[in-house]
Amino acid sequence: MSPEELLHGLDPEQLEAARSVRGPVCILAGAGTGKTRAITHRIAYAVATGVVPEQQVLAVTFTTRAAGEMRGRLRALGAPRVQARTFHAAALRQLSYFWADAVGGPRPTLIDSKVKTVSSAAYACGFRFDRTELRDLAGEIEWAKVTQNRPADYETAVAKAGRTPPMPPRDVARVYEAYEELRSQQHLIDFESVLELTAAMIHEHPRIAEQIRAQYRYFVVDEYQDVNPLQKLLLDAWLGDRDDICVVGDPNQTIYTFAGATPSYLTGFLETYPHATFVRLVRDYRSTPQVVRVANTVLRAGGAGAAPPEHRIELVAQRPDGPEPSYTEYDDEPAEATSVAKKITALIDSGVPAREIAVLFRTNSQSAAYEQALGDAGVPYTVRGAAQFFERPEIRTALHTLRGAAQGDDDAPMVATVRHLLEPLGLTDSPPEGRQAREKWESLAALAQLAEDVAAQQPGARLADFVAELQARAATEHAPGFEGVTLASLHAAKGLEWDAVFLVGLTEGMLPIIYADSPEQIEEERRLFYVGVTRAREHLHLSWALARSPGGRRTRKPSRFLDGLRPASSAPDVRRGERRRKAARVVQCRVCGATLLEAAERKLGRCLDCPSSYDEELLERLRQWRREVSAAQKVPAYVVFTDATLQA
Ligand code: ATP
Ligand code: MG
Repeated sequence: MSPEELLHGLDPEQLEAARSVRGPVCILAGAGTGKTRAITHRIAYAVATGVVPEQQVLAVTFTTRAAGEMRGRLRALGAPRVQARTFHAAALRQLSYFWADAVGGPRPTLIDSKVKTVSSAAYACGFRFDRTELRDLAGEIEWAKVTQNRPADYETAVAKAGRTPPMPPRDVARVYEAYEELRSQQHLIDFESVLELTAAMIHEHPRIAEQIRAQYRYFVVDEYQDVNPLQKLLLDAWLGDRDDICVVGDPNQTIYTFAGATPSYLTGFLETYPHATFVRLVRDYRSTPQVVRVANTVLRAGGAGAAPPEHRIELVAQRPDGPEPSYTEYDDEPAEATSVAKKITALIDSGVPAREIAVLFRTNSQSAAYEQALGDAGVPYTVRGAAQFFERPEIRTALHTLRGAAQGDDDAPMVATVRHLLEPLGLTDSPPEGRQAREKWESLAALAQLAEDVAAQQPGARLADFVAELQARAATEHAPGFEGVTLASLHAAKGLEWDAVFLVGLTEGMLPIIYADSPEQIEEERRLFYVGVTRAREHLHLSWALARSPGGRRTRKPSRFLDGLRPASSAPDVRRGERRRKAARVVQCRVCGATLLEAAERKLGRCLDCPSSYDEELLERLRQWRREVSAAQKVPAYVVFTDATLQA
């Protein structure tokens, strides 16, 4: 492709960015405006014009999937040797390569499960935490590490950041210290240490710095709004005193400040590089005007509305009209999941491929209901989120086996060795009978497929490269899977797009999540909502359920982020319920203290769902009756249980 051909199909602002092949460049723009496309074409154009040697470009993306997609695009645009990697993967490669030279001896092993090591550290300090607490603690230690705070500084840092840790700061600091000691005794490194050690290696070893800087001269960073201080440290180490860096981001998509990221590197880029080329994109090429309208309303309602003019973003739709977004309220979660599965089946029947459909939610725990509903409806799906995939027993065993083989022979050919090693673990030619056996087979097949993808993207990759890639994914990233409907958390959906997006579980407590209480945290939740909305090209369905289970108490409220978006008629039950609540004399459950709305509950003086020594048989009969009447009449439970119906 000639250089000029590479510029076809870019708008004037994207062109300006693509033509600015040297020096600092900052592209600050809203979702779906073609930022990622602009930088991909910029790299290809710079290579095609001969200004930039292909092997000297390092494009840093947020996820390995994004890196893979970018490599694919660059290959198609005639620049197959450009390195597109995550910070983690790029650093791990350099650290592994130079370890013997800089430190000597074998490189420490990457931590397999951070939570497990944190658990051992907590145990050694005399704490007994459950799995959720341990996950929170691991996240907190990660925050301390990416913000460059040692255990001794942690308490002060937390106070200064106005952060609410999951347990008393002193306890976190103790476990953090024990974790670092344990790590060092066991000769393990985590990804934060990989980044830190790589930066330190570059600073302390001028010869290594020279080699690394000679290899990479041109840097491009996508999703720059979510860079954390540790990643910035590494980026600065890579750059040295040069300024061939192009950053791309959207401050309104900053969704990782809880983990230490800060949009200030993006918004302050022009202060660091006053002579930088600064480009703003406003044309939205991804979504229909109907979806763009929702996105703009969300932006205006949030802090973005108060942003300084140079950072204010209003998307301008470019695509033709599409269907209106839908807003649906359900009685309970299973009803919501079943209905979403039905709508998805209808979309697939109408010709939308399953891989072009996503169900997005705030927390991974919301996934199960949709896995069940889609499974029941016979719709193929794939769950994004490393935790589930990489913690499956068969995948842990496979990783263990692959790692052992790579250590024995790090030059082993990749695909042949992977397909061979997975066979004895259960990867037969065709899927076996039975749900469990099939799921296990599918995980292993996904791993084998991933090996093929990596081989296609990195010709000549060895087994050791594949193991490093898997470890990078396990720490940060998406699970590989079969093509099907995507189930993903909003965090995992960043940068991606689908024809149809179902944003589900939109209730107060879920989005914003219950523990988001400061105005800053609420704003981050709103940005997550914005990220979710802007993933949709055409069909956008927003939904929520008022109760967790059928016949359960309808205590949930629709998310505040829906205010001003949904037509008033989508929530008649809620308004009626709220009026009743205000008018009614307050009666509280004597077991849990909740305000009781139903006549039956008010008479009993307790929730039907609350465990107590009350006549269980009577309660079960009442619950059953409530379920039946509620389902038949399609009205909320507290309407069913009026005094009159009770008499009947
Ligand atoms: P996000 O903020 O979500 O990461 P983005 O700004 O990176 O979004 P892209 O993913 O690059 O946006 O582009 C969004 C969609 O618009 C893609 O499908 C892309 O191919 C398309 N697109 C981008 N620029 C153009 C253009 N000039 N003409 C036609 N389509 C375009
Ligand atoms: Mg992008």
